[in-house]
Amino acid sequence: MARKTDDARLLAAWEQGSIATAATRGAQILATLEGAPVDGPRSDGPAYVDLSLGTVDRLLLEFHLAEFGRALEGYFGCPRCGEELEIEVDIEALLASPPPPPEGPGWRYPTPRMLQIAAASVDPSAAIVELAAGHREAGVAIDETRVALADQLANADPLLDVQFGGTCVECGSQVSTRLDVGSFLVAALGERARRILIEVDRLARAYGWSETDILAMSALRRRRYLSLVGSGHG
Ligand SMILES: [Zn+2]
Repeated sequence: MARKTDDARLLAAWEQGSIATAATRGAQILATLEGAPVDGPRSDGPAYVDLSLGTVDRLLLEFHLAEFGRALEGYFGCPRCGEELEIEVDIEALLASPPPPPEGPGWRYPTPRMLQIAAASVDPSAAIVELAAGHREAGVAIDETRVALADQLANADPLLDVQFGGTCVECGSQVSTRLDVGSFLVAALGERARRILIEVDRLARAYGWSETDILAMSALRRRRYLSLVGSGHG
């Protein structure tokens, strides 16, 4: 994705990312940006929902770096007082973390599809371990496998569990949160979508053009028309 993504794709990614569940949000954004199905195989690899969560996050971070820059910004609510706290993360520092070791015999990294299935079960954290152990070796007792696997998952991929801490500006509580790259991406896409839709709204009102026609224009041409509308010649 070296080239800047066109505005119609960005709008669609924001829309699909907003309505997706937390489990598949990141995979859905990537699939929409590429125009690929989220749960079907692609020409160059498995379905986005079958990539590891760490791989999905890496791809999202690379997209953000190319499209929105290296500062990943987002908000999370203080669990005690509800105040919205802003955090900013340096994407290049995150991407510099070493790549995770390959999957071991008898376990796989959790994927969005596993998360989605686990979220519907009675005990999601136990379910995710069972799903990740889907290819366990014969003869190994399940309980041993589960314990070993839980340790491996916690330590294997540094991007799987990035925690941020700080002090709430409102109530002074010490708070920490896990980095949710998918929801940060939806926030960045939402800000861009708001600006694009304002432009579409102004041009559609002035000229009666459809959204599709306006989005198909180059940014340069769209801006030229907007300046004409602004100067009263539209
Ligand atoms: Zn607070």
